Amino acid sequence: MPDGLSSPTRTLRRVEDLISAGLASADARPALEAVAQRYAIAVPPALQALIATPDDPIFRQFIPDPAELITAPHESGDPIADEALSPIPGIVHRYPDRALLKPLLACPVYCRFCFRREQVGPDGGVLSDAALEAAYAYLEAQPGIREVILTGGDPLILSPRRLGAILRRLGSIPHLEVLRIHTRAPVADPALVTTALAEALDIDTPLFLCLHANHARELTPAVGASLRLLQRRGIPILGQTVLLAGVNDSETALGDLFRAMLRMRIKPYYLHQLDAAPGTARFHVPPERGREILTNLRGHISGTALPTYIFDRPGGLGKIPL
Ligand SMILES: *Cc1c(COP(=O)(O)O)cnc(C)c1O
Ligand code: SF4
Repeated sequence: MPDGLSSPTRTLRRVEDLISAGLASADARPALEAVAQRYAIAVPPALQALIATPDDPIFRQFIPDPAELITAPHESGDPIADEALSPIPGIVHRYPDRALLKPLLACPVYCRFCFRREQVGPDGGVLSDAALEAAYAYLEAQPGIREVILTGGDPLILSPRRLGAILRRLGSIPHLEVLRIHTRAPVADPALVTTALAEALDIDTPLFLCLHANHARELTPAVGASLRLLQRRGIPILGQTVLLAGVNDSETALGDLFRAMLRMRIKPYYLHQLDAAPGTARFHVPPERGREILTNLRGHISGTALPTYIFDRPGGLGKIPL
């Protein structure tokens, strides 16, 4: 564990780094090296600093585990069939009025339960200028699309100049009424949210940010300050959370998280049932338990703090509320 004497200053990306930082045991090295061959690792300083004990809700989300090598029979590398619904590289089009645009597949942190874990990684999938042009042409040719959701990977790790150019280009497409960005960057590295980034996001088209956070401890004062930069420019922030065993599968943990979101002017939007990505069984919570937690929270916390509990059905059938 971090010893509290010095604060972490660099992102841990290798098993060796995790062992040196006291976040993995040398005995686990061979198994963790096998995990690292398959799935990307990155634990940025802000998140290292939040790990208090082994297997706490922060550790569990980001530190690799040998159990990731076991793929259960029902788990799939593309659990919600994004690939089958991708007409051209970088676009996923499942619903008539919304499309996803994935400008890159890298993230500032790699979550051990990620449903895109077979696709995301540090050297993964930056769309070339030509591929981006093709994506704009696809969106332009589909007047039924009203909203483009930038996701990835994490769009907020693009340079403000590049992200701003993408947003302004999308904003020039007349039938696009609303843009949305799905991100974990403000939690992984609040310093990524600079004034230059806030300026790049300050566009005429209504832009919503959807922040992925799973535990109240992730929402530090530094995260709050970074979000405030965006909120001051009229960017509403929604919260999305994945229900995870050993992280937030209790009334206390979710209640604390949703209230912490409200205090930061984040509207809890979705509580996701975990998608069946390979090697993620240790995070599974039965849907009955998820329903029970939300039922128990109703009446105890503000209705504005309660998200929709949502399940993305396998095979690209789309989301349904649970
Ligand atoms: C989740 C998702 C969306 C967005 O759905 P909302 O319910 O509007 O948040 C859009 N396209 C795809 C392919 C998705 O998986
Ligand atoms: S930040 Fe999002 S896309 Fe990246 S690893 Fe975590 S869940 Fe997956």
